[in-house]
Amino acid sequence: VPSPPKVLRVALDTPLRRLFDYLPPEAPVPLAPGLRVRVPFGRGERVGVLIECAERSELPLARLKRVKCVLDTEPALSADAHALVLFAADYYQHPLGEVYAAALPARLRAGVALEASETHYRAGAPARTRLGPRQAALLAALAGAPLSREAIEARAPGSGPTLATLLKRGLIESLEVPAAARALPARPAAPGPALGHAQTSALEALTAALGRFAPFLLAGITGSGKTEVYLRLIACALAAGRQALVLVPEIALTPQTVERFATRLGVPIALLHSGLSDGERLAMWRAARCGAARVVIGTRSAVFASLPELGVIVVDEEHDSSYKQQEGARYSARDLAVLRARAAGVPVVLGSATPALETLQNVAEGRYLRLELPERAGGARSPTLATIDLRVHAMNGALATPAVLAMERHLGAGGQVLLYLNRRGFAPSLYCPGCAWIAPCPACDARLTVHLRERRLRCHHCGASGPLPFACPRCATELKPVGQGTERVEETLARVFPGVAVLRIDRDTVRGRDGFAAAFAKVRDGSARILLGTQMLAKGHDFPNVSLVVVLDADQGLFSTDFRASERLAQNIIQVAGRAGRADRPGEVLVQSACPAHPLLAKLVAQGYGAFASAALAERRHAGLPPFSHLALIAAEAKTASAPMAALTSLREQAGAVAPVRILGPAPAVLERKADRYRAQLLIESPERRPLKLALERIAQLIEATPGRSRVRLSLEVDPLEVG
Ligand code: ADP
Ligand code: ZN
Ligand code: ZN
Repeated sequence: VPSPPKVLRVALDTPLRRLFDYLPPEAPVPLAPGLRVRVPFGRGERVGVLIECAERSELPLARLKRVKCVLDTEPALSADAHALVLFAADYYQHPLGEVYAAALPARLRAGVALEASETHYRAGAPARTRLGPRQAALLAALAGAPLSREAIEARAPGSGPTLATLLKRGLIESLEVPAAARALPARPAAPGPALGHAQTSALEALTAALGRFAPFLLAGITGSGKTEVYLRLIACALAAGRQALVLVPEIALTPQTVERFATRLGVPIALLHSGLSDGERLAMWRAARCGAARVVIGTRSAVFASLPELGVIVVDEEHDSSYKQQEGARYSARDLAVLRARAAGVPVVLGSATPALETLQNVAEGRYLRLELPERAGGARSPTLATIDLRVHAMNGALATPAVLAMERHLGAGGQVLLYLNRRGFAPSLYCPGCAWIAPCPACDARLTVHLRERRLRCHHCGASGPLPFACPRCATELKPVGQGTERVEETLARVFPGVAVLRIDRDTVRGRDGFAAAFAKVRDGSARILLGTQMLAKGHDFPNVSLVVVLDADQGLFSTDFRASERLAQNIIQVAGRAGRADRPGEVLVQSACPAHPLLAKLVAQGYGAFASAALAERRHAGLPPFSHLALIAAEAKTASAPMAALTSLREQAGAVAPVRILGPAPAVLERKADRYRAQLLIESPERRPLKLALERIAQLIEATPGRSRVRLSLEVDPLEVG
C-alpha cells in the first residue's frame, strides 16, 4: 500500500493562475487526479478538482489547510477530457480552475453527486396504530423492494397524499438509489438513402480511420450530403460499441437537426447547449458520462463533455465563429476538438462548405486529410453567381434595378427569393442635412441605428437606446435616416412588390429557438415568398424553394480593418447561396457591390470559394498574417481614456519580447469607447508557436501581477478571431 501523499494540489475557480495546496483528509481515501474535493477557502468553502498529489509544497506543511472531503471515487471527466482541460488552460494561458469550471456543469461545481440518483420508498417501522385501507395497501406494496414515486403511482394511482402522511409518521422511509441517467429516448433506427459515389469514398476513408487519431476536412457545399456521411460514420462507431460527439454552431442546434440524428441512429442522444437549465444540463451530462447516451450533440462547451467510450468527433460548419468562446476562457472548440481526438485516439471530421482558411492551410501542409463532396446529393446543380455594380444602376432603396427584375422573374416562376443584408434596424445612422450632425451613441464611438417602427434609436454595440428625435438638436432641421437596414428594405419591398408576403428574419423579429422554428416553418410551407434577413439566414437551414439570393451589400466585408472580414464575407455569401436551388430549379445568386472588381470578390464570384480561399491565403502569407503567423491579443479596458494605453505601454516594456516574437501596438481599439469604457490593444505576433507561448507565459504573469488590475481590465486571447 503506497503511503498517502503529503500534499494535494487543487484547481479552484478563481482568476489566479495557480493551484492551491491542501493536506489530504485525515482518513485515508483513494486519491487520483480529476476527483472533486471540497476545501476551505477564505472564509468559506469551495469545490475544486484535484490535479496532482505532491510530496512537498512551497508553503510549510503546517500552514496548509486540510481538504474537507473528497467528493468522488472516480474522476468527473473522462481521461481525454481531463487532459483536454489541462491542455486548454496551458495553451490559452487561462487559470486552470476557471477552465475546469467551464468544463463542468454548474451543479457539479456546486458539489452534487456525479451520478444520478432517484428517491425510492420502502416500509419503515411497523405501525402501532390502526391504518386506513389506503394506508395499509400502500404499506403492503412497499414491503418488498423499494419503489420510485412513479412505480408507486403506477400500482396505486392517487396515493401521493397517503405517501406523504406515512412518510411524516415514519412508517415509510425514503432512500437515494442510483438511477439510470436521462438522455433523449431512442427510437428504432430508420434507414437512409443509398450513398452517392463521392459520399461512399469519403465514408470509406473515414471508417478506415476508426480506432486511431486522424483529422479530416469534409468539404462540400450545403446539400452535398455531408450529414449523411456523418450519420453513417457515427453508426459504424456505435456498432463498435463507441460513443460519438457532434459539435454544431449555436444557431444550428434546432429540433430538426436533433430529429434527424435521432431517427437515423436509433440510440439515446444527449443534447448540450446554452438553453438548458442547470438541472437539464446535469442530466444530459450524466447520461453522456455513464454511457447511457451514445451520441452527444452540443455547442462549443460540449467539447469538454465526458464520454468514456468516445469513438468519433464531428464538427459541423467548422468555419462558424460561434465555436470561439469570446468571454472568460477564450478557446476555440473546433481546435480543441482536434486535440481531444488526438488525446482519445479517434478520428475527427471537420465539415464545411466554406472551410476556415486555417483549416485549408492545415490540409495544404498535410496535417488534415481533405475529403470532397463535389456535387449536391440528388443531382441538384450548384447556383450561379454574378455581381451587380451599384455605381451604374438605378436604385430602389437597397435594391438595384437588375435585382428587382431578377426578383420579378423568380417570383413569377413560383420561386422564393432570399435577400441578405447583415444590418438590422431601419438605417445605420440618423443625419442632419442642415449641419451634418449624426446621432451619436452617448456611451460609444459609434452612431445610433434608427429603428423606425419602434420609434427609437439604438446602439448596436452597447444596447443604449432613446426616443427617435424628429429635428436636429443643433439646428432644428428635420433629420434623415441614412443607409439601409433590414427594416428599411422591408418597407421598400412593400412598395416594389405589393401583395407579396415578406418574412424578415433578424434579431429584432425572431427570438429564441422557438422563434426560429416558427419562422422556418413559414419559409418551408411557402407562406413567405421573400425572405429578408441577416446572417441568421446563412446558418444551417435549407430553403429548397429559394431560387434567387441577393446579397444586398458585399462591401461591408471588403474594406474592414479586421483582416478576417473578407473571409467572413465570402463564407456568408457562399453559405447564403448554398440555401438556394434544387434539382429542377438551379439557384441564381446576385451580389451587389460598388466595387465588383475587388480581386477577392471577383475571384469568389467567378471561380467560387476554393479560388477565393487560395487568393486570400496568398495575401495572408504575403502579409505574414495567420495562419502564416500566430497571434495573441492583449486587450485593456478602463473608465478613463489614457489608462488602457498607459497600462499596455508599460506591459510592453516589461515584456521585452525577443525575436522572432514581435509586439505590435498598443493602439486604441477601432471602437475605442464602448459602453463608456475606453479600449486599447496589443498584438503579440510570432511566426512560430513555441516562442509565442514563452512570451505569453511571461505576459500572463505580468498581467496577473499588474497593480490596479481593477482599474484597467486586462485580458489575453490566444488565436483571436476578431482583430481590429
Ligand atoms: P449537407 O449536410 O452537406 O448539407 P445533407 O446530408 O443534409 O447535406 O443532404 C442534403 C439532402 O440530400 C438531405 O435531404 C439528404 O437526406 C439528401 N441526401 C443526402 N445524401 C443523399 C443520397 N446519397 N441520396 C439521396 N439523397 C441524399
Ligand atoms: Zn443640424
Ligand atoms: Zn453604444
